[in-house]
Amino acid sequence: LTDAERDVLDKIDAENVDFVRLQFTDITGTVKNVSVPASQVEKAFEEGIWFDGSSIEGFVRIQESDMRLEPDPETFAILPWRTDGDTASARLICDVVNTDGTPFEGGPRQVLKSVLAEAEEMGYTVSIGPEPEFFLFEKDEDGKATTIPHDSGGYFDLAPKDLASDVRREIIFTLEQMGFEVEASHHEVADGQHEINFKYDDALTAADNIATFRAVVRAVAEQNDIHATFMPKPISAINGSGMHSHISLFDEDGNAFADEDDEFNLSETAYKFMGGVLDHAEAFTAVTNPTVNSYKRLVPGYEAPVYVAWSDVNRSALLRVPDAAGASSRFEIRSPDPSCNPYLALAVVIKAGLDGIENDADPGEPVREDIYEFDEEKRDEYGITTLPGSLDTALEALEEDDVVREALGDHVTEKFVEAKRADYADYKTHVSSWEKEKYLEKF
Ligand code: GLU
Ligand code: MG
Ligand code: MG
Repeated sequence: LTDAERDVLDKIDAENVDFVRLQFTDITGTVKNVSVPASQVEKAFEEGIWFDGSSIEGFVRIQESDMRLEPDPETFAILPWRTDGDTASARLICDVVNTDGTPFEGGPRQVLKSVLAEAEEMGYTVSIGPEPEFFLFEKDEDGKATTIPHDSGGYFDLAPKDLASDVRREIIFTLEQMGFEVEASHHEVADGQHEINFKYDDALTAADNIATFRAVVRAVAEQNDIHATFMPKPISAINGSGMHSHISLFDEDGNAFADEDDEFNLSETAYKFMGGVLDHAEAFTAVTNPTVNSYKRLVPGYEAPVYVAWSDVNRSALLRVPDAAGASSRFEIRSPDPSCNPYLALAVVIKAGLDGIENDADPGEPVREDIYEFDEEKRDEYGITTLPGSLDTALEALEEDDVVREALGDHVTEKFVEAKRADYADYKTHVSSWEKEKYLEKF
């Protein structure tokens, strides 16, 4: 056993942990658990834990279904909402490996690790600061989720209107118990909508944190008998939920995106990286915005991006450069939404940026005007393209882009496209309540 693994065993003893959930995510980003008694954790570190991969979305075919989970000791955490005075439950995030011990190329965490290994070969570590938004909704008498906001506060409103702030406080407290450093939290623009920002971290930890964050928010909401949702656009004509992510690269000299002589405090490396992200944005949107519903958020007028451009001021652009310098020089990508698989989403965005560095990509000039107001002619003049308008066009763009495909690998690309096309086909033939309201009596 390594020192880190021994530390975990010590903590299990000290905290009287009885069960440990071994966690991993499938390609859609759903967190899966295999629960083992604490006594099995040593064995899990030594030999891994076998499971049947054929039951997991996007993993393997029946005939090659034996897979192994290898827990990452750095990810040990007590689950505060599963803990009573006597015993505690904990979790470990796992890598998925094949029978022969090689990493499984279809595991989302592995996909991100491969891209980060490329970054490391180029001399960089990648820092990500995610800003996930979510809604808290009432449940009805049958315990089913509604879209009735759990409060009636507006942006930055304080108590007594912000009734949900108690729940948010409890969420933050739970996150802190699990080792998160929460930097800010506020009520968002829409009723019932919240945002909690946690400190930036290396990209792998950030992806683990996003997965954990969603689990914590849901669990604490559940305990309060309300429903938390990361659905990107739960209510039409109201701001949706995004997951802006702040990105910077570090090398041995510090922040490789910083250059104090530049107007926006950004280096050549930063501009090339941003250029790569803009070049591949249409292609990676299927991954950062992977649901039918995601495309109802990416429309003009709700602070969500629609246009492939960068800006230091406006929120209609895909990339925004905040006013920051030195160690904090960075840009924010505004398109990802919290229904994405965080490992795959970060993998494709980072890969696009690295490709930009390798190919001297050029992000062009910042757009200072409100692009929502531009007509097509003006967008053409500025060379601004549009993000895909639906999941099916996004999937087409993904399939045509070698860089994004390479980031995901053949296995994940194939399984991902297959699963998402099936979703889209189902949606396309479904007769919605909008259609019934509009046409049933009219025709
Ligand atoms: N809710 C907005 C979105 O869909 C973002 C609002 C903000 O700037 O925080 O991305
Ligand atoms: Mg926000
Ligand atoms: Mg933001």
